[in-house]
Amino acid sequence: AIQYISGKEPHAREKRLIFKNIDRVGFTPSIDSFLEDGGYEQLKVALKMEKSAIINEVKASGLRGRGGAGFPTGVKWGFIPPTNTKPVYIICNADESEPGTFKDRYILHQDPHQLLEGMIIACFAVNAKLGYIYIREEFPQAAIIVEKAIAEARAKGFLGKDILGSGFDCELYVHRGAGAYICGEETGLIESLEGKRPYPRIKPPYFPAALGLYMSPTIVNNVESLCHVKHIIQMGGAEYAKLGTPNNTGTRILCVSGDVQKPGYYEVEVGKVTMGEVIDVLCGGMKPGRKLKAIIPGGSSSKVLRADEKFKLKDGREIGIMDIPMDFDTMAACGSMAGSGGVIIMDDSRSMTWVINNLNNFYAHESCGQCTPCREGSLWMKKISDRIVSGEASPDDVDSLESVANQIEGKTICAFGEACSWPTQSFIKKFRDEMKGDCKPELVGEIVSDEGKVA
Ligand code: NAD
Ligand code: SF4
Repeated sequence: AIQYISGKEPHAREKRLIFKNIDRVGFTPSIDSFLEDGGYEQLKVALKMEKSAIINEVKASGLRGRGGAGFPTGVKWGFIPPTNTKPVYIICNADESEPGTFKDRYILHQDPHQLLEGMIIACFAVNAKLGYIYIREEFPQAAIIVEKAIAEARAKGFLGKDILGSGFDCELYVHRGAGAYICGEETGLIESLEGKRPYPRIKPPYFPAALGLYMSPTIVNNVESLCHVKHIIQMGGAEYAKLGTPNNTGTRILCVSGDVQKPGYYEVEVGKVTMGEVIDVLCGGMKPGRKLKAIIPGGSSSKVLRADEKFKLKDGREIGIMDIPMDFDTMAACGSMAGSGGVIIMDDSRSMTWVINNLNNFYAHESCGQCTPCREGSLWMKKISDRIVSGEASPDDVDSLESVANQIEGKTICAFGEACSWPTQSFIKKFRDEMKGDCKPELVGEIVSDEGKVA
């Protein structure tokens, strides 16, 4: 039986596919460990399949991108123009940096070959002979581990020329970022990979699947998304699609942080657990004596939900926050997004003014500066919320803050504009009564990392 490090055992409500080997006793990032666990068997299967059949299996699986946008992975792979004569590239986006999200780094650190196997299958399916794993600068150890894994895979014939006698050649390389959140935006990432400043490109026309790296078709997928590929080959797309709920298939890793008893990672079938079960069952409930106040459900760029809100669903049902199934579509229907799976739970000790100021500081620091509404607006939002949090705001500062956010949304080159304006808009809409410069330091609760340590 599989044994896990004490305290890291999966909860009965979890369904471990991608995280099966994370924090598992005796499992190492080495290729030997991976091979003992049946590693690279699905690559052998895939190399005997028609390329189009692999893409069809991924389409049939219903897999939606786990980086945050939830775009169907198989559909994206199918976007490569059929008349293309240029080289095709695959990029694994391992620039995980959305506040509240900490899943991909576990895979890179502990199970890198799962990613490599998925990525080599993806390369074969879309006929890419070169792939890049773009790892954020803040994960230096991950870059070393993945490079070692690539060398091991090459030594065993899973990479390089004529892989396993199939006639397919493929090389993967690690590229390290330089510490900018915007390098996780796929076109900013591509610019960075080309050796330039990571200014995002305008989409359309620069959807990477048609005009990506070196203006060639490029598939950019998240780490977790690529890991699902080998499981889809193993199970078959239709069988995989039975996991989760319709249009929200498979499993996904939720990264829970904040004011719960047991923050951490939980892999669940998409839509099969509710927010209430995440808090009370998986995470052991709120901290003693505390009440839920608000939740940021899908990474910092998603809109905040109030504990006492009611949400009207398409079928007419009205549900409360604890009843929301953790899936892409319902979260969107509730006015937010499931995003990158970073669930940030806040209790009644938290000052919402402090939270929005914290986020505004982050976005002002990370704007790439290419377009004026975002470059100037994110800094103004930081400055105004600095004033509010320190009790120096003028009476109309909250209105000004809201107005600046409204002037950014929809007027920028990349989605960072929405990512930085949505939190401010939603916090003001839902907690305007708190935004009066009344944040006292003692109202700010302790900061707990996903490792459970108090910072
Ligand atoms: P998007 O919806 O614009 O695109 C999603 C994917 O589909 C992209 O790869 C895009 O190229 C492709 N696509 C969409 N329409 C297409 C078309 N017509 N033709 C070809 N390809 C098409 O979203 P995005 O800007 O890639 O991502 C935004 C999300 O990223 C946010 O919702 C946020 O949750 C998430 N995010 C995640 C992190 C992280 O660390 N994981 C960090 C920041 C943001
Ligand atoms: Fe850069 Fe912001 Fe414009 Fe995106 S929206 S291109 S991050 S300035």
